[in-house]
Amino acid sequence: CKTKGKADSRINPVGITEAFKRDTDSKKINLGVGAYRDADGKPYVLPSVLAAEDKVISERGDKEYLPITGLGKFTDAAAVLAYGQDSKPLKENRVAITQSLSGTGALRIAGAFLARHYPHSREIYVPSPTWGNHIPIFRDSGLEVKHYSYYDKKTVGLDFEGMKRDLQSIPDKSIVLLHACAHNPTGIDPTPEQWREISNLIKDKQHFPLIDNAYLGFASGSVDNDAFMLRHFVEEGHQLVLCQSFAKNMGLYGERVGTFSVVCADPEEKARVDSQIKILVRPMYSNPPVHGARVAATLLTDPKLNEQWLAEVKGMADRIIGMRSTLYDLLQELGSKKEWSHIKNQIGMFAFLGISPEQVDRLAKEHHVYLTRDGRISVAGITNHNVRHLAESLHEVTKN
Ligand code: PMP
Repeated sequence: CKTKGKADSRINPVGITEAFKRDTDSKKINLGVGAYRDADGKPYVLPSVLAAEDKVISERGDKEYLPITGLGKFTDAAAVLAYGQDSKPLKENRVAITQSLSGTGALRIAGAFLARHYPHSREIYVPSPTWGNHIPIFRDSGLEVKHYSYYDKKTVGLDFEGMKRDLQSIPDKSIVLLHACAHNPTGIDPTPEQWREISNLIKDKQHFPLIDNAYLGFASGSVDNDAFMLRHFVEEGHQLVLCQSFAKNMGLYGERVGTFSVVCADPEEKARVDSQIKILVRPMYSNPPVHGARVAATLLTDPKLNEQWLAEVKGMADRIIGMRSTLYDLLQELGSKKEWSHIKNQIGMFAFLGISPEQVDRLAKEHHVYLTRDGRISVAGITNHNVRHLAESLHEVTKN
């Protein structure tokens, strides 16, 4: 496993959006954006979110500061959503949880918490590749970032053997970052069977799992499916930390709603961790914002709105899954000789096409199709209106 060097500035969705904006061609497509778009390519505010907001506003709550760890009604419900109604550590009152500034803020607390309190290692192993921001987040937290194998270029799939080999060869008790579902940027997840093996290996090596769950429910359309990995690790008795984001599954990007939690050994440890979390958070940002948390709490606790929200999450996931199939079918119809089944098999908002940076450049220059140079597209940016142009362009640049 390699130590990571500099981040690649060409893999930068912001730069891509700028190039996209400068392009005046009417066929242009931006597949760099990390946010869901509706069937017309427009930002989507979930109707359940609008209804929850109406309810929150009608309640005329005050604008006082929240406690350091946020809105209890929200964090309690968020914990049940992730860990499950029957979660043993929740029932035993041994999960310490705090509201966070979305997933990024949760990861930043996780980094700071482990840098200060994890006694066995200052190294965190992240998959290669991983979400670009993981690296500076953990580096700024005072951890040393190293990589374990994850992506197999040849198969455009999971390098499961490489992953196991690396997790086996790194020092015992290392901190290991795992994407709970819908791995970003590859869209490639281990199967449940592979997760079981990974869990056993991590247990044997006494590694400490840090689980990043930014896409709960958004990957497959079912919260229980997407929570499999987390719940399995918890059932297997791992002590772990979890970073949760409601940016994607509630479309609350700019509201910054998330949680950071720690599964502790017992309620006494939980109490100590709770107090250490407060000591960490207070000098960082004092306390989190209230509005988004009230909206999320309403969606999680009002039975009718909860049902509506879950149906809308499934709607978003289904649109993405449908676009994957349409793109695949069109590539077949156009007679592409390249193997594209990974487009259908990958999961979540992103698809890793397995094309070269030069092919990505041609897509932009010759076809007005913009994506990051690692060959990642945001499937959420594909619509019925642009999918044919995308398929034709992809076929064109991959012909030889
Ligand atoms: N983790 C992963 C893997 C992500 O893809 C993202 C969003 N792109 C995040 C965390 C954090 O996002 P946010 O801070 O908006 O919740």
